[in-house]
Order: sequence, then C-alpha cells, then structure tokens
Amino acid sequence: MKNLLALNWKMNKTPTEARAWAQELGEKLEAGQAELAVMAPAITLSALAANLPTGVGFGGQDVSAHESGAYTGEISAAMLKDVGATYAVVGHSERRDYHGETDAVVAAKARQAQANGLIPIVCVGEKLDVREAGEHVPFTLAQLAGSLEGVGTDVVVAYEPVWAIGTGKTATADDAEELAAAIRRALQERYGDAAAGIRVLYGGSVKPDNIASICAKPNVNGALVGGASLKVADVLGMNDAL
Ligand code: PGA
Repeated sequence: MKNLLALNWKMNKTPTEARAWAQELGEKLEAGQAELAVMAPAITLSALAANLPTGVGFGGQDVSAHESGAYTGEISAAMLKDVGATYAVVGHSERRDYHGETDAVVAAKARQAQANGLIPIVCVGEKLDVREAGEHVPFTLAQLAGSLEGVGTDVVVAYEPVWAIGTGKTATADDAEELAAAIRRALQERYGDAAAGIRVLYGGSVKPDNIASICAKPNVNGALVGGASLKVADVLGMNDAL
C-alpha cells in the first residue's frame, strides 16, 4: 500500500500564502513513492485546487456532522467535495480538546464525510498521563471503537499520541508500531478482510529525519504531519525519505 503523507497545516497560511506554497511545490516536487495530500483551512482549498501539482490531493481539517442547514460557521462534506477535496480530518486532538468533540461526534462527522464521497482521516491517541499509566493501548482502542461507530471501510486512521504533537517528542518507531498493530487488529475484527486495505498513519513531531524509520514499520502506512508540513523544503525531504 502506498504511504500517505497527509500535511496538516492547522490554522496557518492565508489563501495567498497557500497559492505560493502550492506553486513552489509544483516547481520542485519530483515523483515520489508516497501519496501527498494537504489538509488545509477550508478558505484556502480553492486556491489549492487551482495551484497544486497534478496528483497532490487535499482535504479539510474538520467537517460538519450535519448535511446542511442552520449550523453557523460549519463547513459541510458536500462543500468540501464540491471544491475537489478527497479527505476530511475528523477527531484531531485539538478539536477534541478545544471544541469538546466526543467519539460520537467524531463518528457522525466521519459518516457524513463518507456519505458525500470523502475519505475521513479519523484521529485517535492518548495523553501523557494515560501513557505513563500504561493504558495507551486500551484507551486508544476504546476511542477508535467509539469514533468508528457506523463508519464504513473507506477510511484512514491516524494514531497521534497527544504528548508527541507539536512538542518535538516523537514516539519511537516501535511505539508507533505497537499502536498501529493494535489498531490493525481492531480493524480486522470490525471489518474483516477489508481491514488490510485501510491505512494507519502515525502523527506527532514527524519530520524529514524520522519519517523513514516510522513508516518502515509493517503496520504504519504514512504520516499526519503538522509543523513540518509548512515549508516546502521539509515536505520534499519527507517525500524523498519515503
Ligand atoms: P506535529 O502535529 O507534526 O506538529 O506534531 C501533528 C498533528 O497534530 O497532526
């Protein structure tokens, strides 16, 4: 399975900056082994659609759990699809923490994405206290089960230990593989043979010099990258490393 390099810009880059970034990527990107996709603020997606090089996809960082209607400020899956998005990130730890999103809300968002032809990237992962208590595997699997309620097989799962996000503390490749393997087993129980086609990503302080060892693990099929997604040079470095 081709690795997915999912670039999570978070709340960075104006549409003007996004356009320049996409054009620079187009000038410098050489065919790599990975699939690239940019998870960008919704307001920049049209600029990305017009300027990203062929073969580089994009998606939203969130999506509404509702189809349409009186939900001021929300972006629907149909809107993302209409501008050409492939993916929608759901359940990122920053949404869970700062916006109170529960597993049930995350699952509803993932179902809404799939109903509109988008592939949800469902994020799960433990905080430091859970890891220190040795509960990271059962915690993450419980979160996964709740976040996949009613969700079909056209999905990506991202394991992102919260203590490794934006902190410079990367989980070791073995830590990533421990959870990726546990997630894979849970996906097999849930989906049967179809689980073999589901990508499991690792996220948390991934950069050019650690991506290769993490993605070399048998159950890791790519990375969700925040900080190192903002500079084209870092993206090229990660693409080259895969
Ligand atoms: P980071 O963010 O690469 O900056 O740690 C990852 C993420 O939050 O998806």
